[in-house]
Amino acid sequence: MTHAAGPPPIKSLLLSELETTLAELGQQPYRARQVMRWLYAKRAKSFAEMTDLPAPLREHLAQAFHFDDLQAVRTLGSGDTTRKFLFQLADGALVESVLIPASPALYGEASDRRTICVSTQVGCAYGCKFCASGLDGWSRNLHTGEIVDQILRVEELSGEKINNIVFMGMGEPLANFENVMRAIAIINAPWGIGLGARHITLSTSGLAPQIRQLADHPLQVRLAISLHGATDEVRQQLMPVNRKYPLAILLDACAYYTQRKKQRLTFEYILIDGLNDTPGQAEALARHASRLTAKVNLIPYNEVEGLPWARPTVRRQEAFLRVLKNAGVAATIRREKGHDIAAACGQLRLQTKRAMDGADKSFAESPNAE
Ligand code: SAH
Ligand code: SF4
Repeated sequence: MTHAAGPPPIKSLLLSELETTLAELGQQPYRARQVMRWLYAKRAKSFAEMTDLPAPLREHLAQAFHFDDLQAVRTLGSGDTTRKFLFQLADGALVESVLIPASPALYGEASDRRTICVSTQVGCAYGCKFCASGLDGWSRNLHTGEIVDQILRVEELSGEKINNIVFMGMGEPLANFENVMRAIAIINAPWGIGLGARHITLSTSGLAPQIRQLADHPLQVRLAISLHGATDEVRQQLMPVNRKYPLAILLDACAYYTQRKKQRLTFEYILIDGLNDTPGQAEALARHASRLTAKVNLIPYNEVEGLPWARPTVRRQEAFLRVLKNAGVAATIRREKGHDIAAACGQLRLQTKRAMDGADKSFAESPNAE
């Protein structure tokens, strides 16, 4: 378990681990279930609230574990009620989570889902050219409790029950594999958040070895691949990771995943004007998707301040989609929700961080400012 120095965060623990820890203290195993019920069913905010535990045990737990709580420093709502939460972690780092009320073109079938998009790292080391998360580089991995807490805090702040989780916030989830898989185990467990694995989607920029590792993992989560270029030449311009794992290697790992999991992958494909939105790219993308019977999610580019790219016209977007459909590929254009609140990956954090680094430090002192 990876976390910052100090006592381990309680929300990073699996039930079996807590049982072992409590057994070492001479406690009955059922105490561990009680603690988990307080954490995930009753949503306690401290050990002191766990009133059916003996007081000395509560005190011991408070000493032995960190009850990690994210501090909401900014909350933004938008016209379409997509809400964005900027959290400050114990060490002052900022991460963001987005609550999307309905996501017909995203990962499930139903359109009345409440989806949360969670972050897995502070910053990102992969430096995709179009993405705000990578602009300031990578600082650290989130520990499991910080990932799990994003869900608990967003449910608490919004008053809504989340029924779909996408790992599409800041960071590359497969580069923080152990902590992310542990978070998924807690999200999925009946003693934890209790959300079905099919309602959990991991998105990756294409770390081929970890895709294979995930294929061999028993959990049936969904997987989305951020493709964004259908040839090495184009993909390389946008995503440095393509030099390490070129398309042939990435697509082989995808084929392995599909075969092992008997599950359809999703290709995410941002449409950037004049760069990857040509008919040639659409045809190449259609070939890859057909080979893997993958779905394609087209995402009109969300403009990022300081970056030169633009989203293509709706006509160009539709033309790209038509090529895929004519080739028999299941494809949709994601009509971006939350465009007006900088909902794309890492954008709110970047804006806030720049403001905080500059003259205006008021965000940190005014929780839920907006
Ligand atoms: N690192 C992972 C998950 C986080 S990024 C990955 O790359 O898949 C989640 C999604 O947001 C990716 O598909 C990413 O390409 C997309 N994204 C990033 N910046 C964007 C932007 N400016 N406009 C639209 N989508 C963006
Ligand atoms: Fe990192 Fe994903 Fe952004 Fe690329 S798109 S920089 S991998 S968060």
